[in-house]
Amino acid sequence: MSRPSDRCPGVFSSHPAADGHLARIRLPGGLITPAQIQALVGVSDEFGDGHLELTSRGNVQLRGITDIDGAGELILEAGLIPSPSHERVRNLQMSALTGRRGGLLDAWPVLDDFDTRLQSDAALAKLPARILFGVDDGRGDILTQGPDIGLLAYEADSFDVVVGGKATGRQVSPGDAPALMIDLAHAFLADRNDEWRVQDLAGRVAIDDVLARLPRTGDHAMSKLGPEPQVGWLAQDDDDLVALGSVVAHGRIPGRVGEFLSAIERDIYLTPRKEILIVDLSESMADTVLRVLAPMGLIFDENSPWTRVTDCTGSPGCDKSHADVRGDLDLHLRDGDVVIDEREHWVGCERGCGSPQEGHLRVEATPTGYTRRRL
Ligand code: SF4
Repeated sequence: MSRPSDRCPGVFSSHPAADGHLARIRLPGGLITPAQIQALVGVSDEFGDGHLELTSRGNVQLRGITDIDGAGELILEAGLIPSPSHERVRNLQMSALTGRRGGLLDAWPVLDDFDTRLQSDAALAKLPARILFGVDDGRGDILTQGPDIGLLAYEADSFDVVVGGKATGRQVSPGDAPALMIDLAHAFLADRNDEWRVQDLAGRVAIDDVLARLPRTGDHAMSKLGPEPQVGWLAQDDDDLVALGSVVAHGRIPGRVGEFLSAIERDIYLTPRKEILIVDLSESMADTVLRVLAPMGLIFDENSPWTRVTDCTGSPGCDKSHADVRGDLDLHLRDGDVVIDEREHWVGCERGCGSPQEGHLRVEATPTGYTRRRL
């Protein structure tokens, strides 16, 4: 019989970091259920560092895993590895509030259908782990992430096809969109040598053939990009319910906070900007959540610097780091005069792990101190 870790390829880092193995959990659309949060809190408490870490791809990772088999068994039991063969193809993003607030259409059925097709297509298990799929409901939040293959709604029943991070001016309906994204994924494999991203391809023959069979969109207003944080009290459009948006320092949810999030018994969407969106709350529930979770460290203030600042692990967790990035960032923000009015990402070395896809200020540790440059 195979051991749990044998059945979880792609979940665990192949080489441990200074603080142990890393487990990356695939969350299509950023959706995580209360039961899944509870399960991951259990895994992190027993085998990891007691936190759930948000990633810049809208997934979750657990750090400091000491026992891969033990952790793998619990992750499998929680149903968080639906297709072991496709585990590395983990970056599927979607406008997180789609169907609830804003946007031109509900992107979820399209992403869900695409993921089902993806997982049942054996050839697509060969896609590189960095590839990013994204469905943007027209608000522009996913387009800014530069999906390799994606969709941008420009009407309630039409998408502009996105390839290599750019809208192509080719049109597809929501019904045909999942199959088209599968075709484009196969075309990427056909065009690829050893490139990890569509953006890096030396030439695009198969992809352009797929696009050529689609009608042109004609002129349409490009989506206004949506860099504003989704944080605070967010009334949903068609019901009396509320979504609560929050962030957390360093993108790390302590296990105790995770337990409370699970106890709310509502789905949660995690975004590439490391926002935590609790949806479908009555107003009285939302009031209670604010009163309980704000003192525990969840930040519901859209003006908090943590809505714009992210960081990598730094030392001591990463032995490549030139500095204790988290500690230094805490010290920097403790100075009440600091104004953060653009996205900033702090890193411990030139690798720049977890960098936002959007333009941002990189604050990078070097052997002689921090440097700052715009990317
Ligand atoms: S950016 Fe450098 S210091 Fe930070 S986690 Fe990556 S490798 Fe480690």
